[in-house]
Amino acid sequence: MIKSINPYTGKLIAQYEAYDETTVMHMIEKGSNSFLAWRKTGVHERCELIKGVGDHLLKKKDAYARLMSLEMGKPVKQAIAEIEKCAWLCDYYSDNAPGFLKDKEVITDAAMSYVAYEPLGVVLAVMPWNYPFWQVFRFAVPTLLAGNTCLLKHASNVMGCAEEIQKIFIDCGFPEGTFQNLVIGSDKVEMVLEHPKVRAVSLTGSEAAGKAVAAIAGKNIKSSLLELGGSNATIILKDADLKEALNTVINARYQNTGQSCIAAKRLLVDKHIADEFIDRFLEEVKKLRSGDPLDEETYIGVLAREELAEELEDQMNRSITAGATILCGGDRKRAYFEPTVLKTNDPTVAVMQEETFGPLMCVCVFDGIEEAIELSNQTNFGLGVSIFTQDIERIKSYIPRFEEGAVFVNELVKSDPRLPFGGVKNSGYGRELGLEGIRSFVNVKTVYIK
Ligand code: NAP
Repeated sequence: MIKSINPYTGKLIAQYEAYDETTVMHMIEKGSNSFLAWRKTGVHERCELIKGVGDHLLKKKDAYARLMSLEMGKPVKQAIAEIEKCAWLCDYYSDNAPGFLKDKEVITDAAMSYVAYEPLGVVLAVMPWNYPFWQVFRFAVPTLLAGNTCLLKHASNVMGCAEEIQKIFIDCGFPEGTFQNLVIGSDKVEMVLEHPKVRAVSLTGSEAAGKAVAAIAGKNIKSSLLELGGSNATIILKDADLKEALNTVINARYQNTGQSCIAAKRLLVDKHIADEFIDRFLEEVKKLRSGDPLDEETYIGVLAREELAEELEDQMNRSITAGATILCGGDRKRAYFEPTVLKTNDPTVAVMQEETFGPLMCVCVFDGIEEAIELSNQTNFGLGVSIFTQDIERIKSYIPRFEEGAVFVNELVKSDPRLPFGGVKNSGYGRELGLEGIRSFVNVKTVYIK
């Protein structure tokens, strides 16, 4: 049984019987048959359907937000913002997909030569629970617009969201089989990906899941896109506008109760401003309002599962044993983890090396930009970094030194439908969003006519 449990109350919301092998095989066939007709529809027709999805999301945003809050503890106001962002994504791609997918003429010695962007077929998505709607839409919207059909294997604890997303596509007029939710656990991913009619896979999740799924894809010569963990640094240089930086860094670490791959997990502060900035930061952290995820005033909800809060506590305790000091917070009660700040000068402690997936910030003081770059780059991850400074010309010359998929200056690292999103190193490979995102699951076909 796949169980959906409210992490705030600990109560069972629903349980789902996992599909058996025959059902899964039937769904793959259905996705493949549906692809044959779907690929022949014009991109403008597909855009119209996606526009309808965006409108539908906005109409029902309160209901979908509530479902996310119940299943994984996200504060409802942030859940509404997530649905609105999905609607923006629908608008963005329906406006831009025709241009992104248009044949590109290339002048050669041929009478005519061009590049065509054709769909691959059935694409599998293995998705996480932290943004239960956004992660799925970020994958599905461009993938469907490119003419592929989708199979979703969502995280087991948000199966209610997964079922609802499938219903959205059906209700908005997508042909049967273009988007299907597989009610399965991770044990059946191998079987699905090995099926010859499943052509590619996109996974957002942990390093462990990424390694396992990429190995299956590799063995079967199928393309894969991995969006994995991160341990982003936020760097406060001594000339930063501290007031601006403060508000942004609070959101960068604590929104979504700290459960974001691109959250600022390490706060690196120049020694000249460290005392002042850290004091002001602690004041703001202490003001963050914890509570019932369904209460509109709540900023910090609960972690999505109790064991995730236990893991975070273990990372905190190991870091303290290794010499880190606790500046505020540190308490845990079931799935609730108090907003916490640790400080260390040792870049090898757990919270500086590992991904911390919850409301825990680690502060480290540096002396000059060279040390900041070294500290920023010293994890195995490479999703993004944000840097606060008023000297834009100077910081531009340092941007190539950051081993990251994204560098944001005077802003938190965030995803934006218009910009490519993805990582380097153990944060994964491939890009979602923007032009690059819609070209992730296409056959880039060369056509040469003499
Ligand atoms: P997770 O445990 O890796 O799960 C993600 C998905 O992978 C779930 O659907 C899960 O299924 C499945 N899965 C897990 N192990 C698998 C395996 N061996 N084979 C096949 N599928 C497997 O991650 P999570 O706890 O849900 O999410 C948190 C992680 O995701 C963090 O590391 C975070 O940084 C990362 N993340 C990255 C991004 C990004 O864009 N880079 C965005 C959000 C989150 P079950 O639920 O059934 O186990």
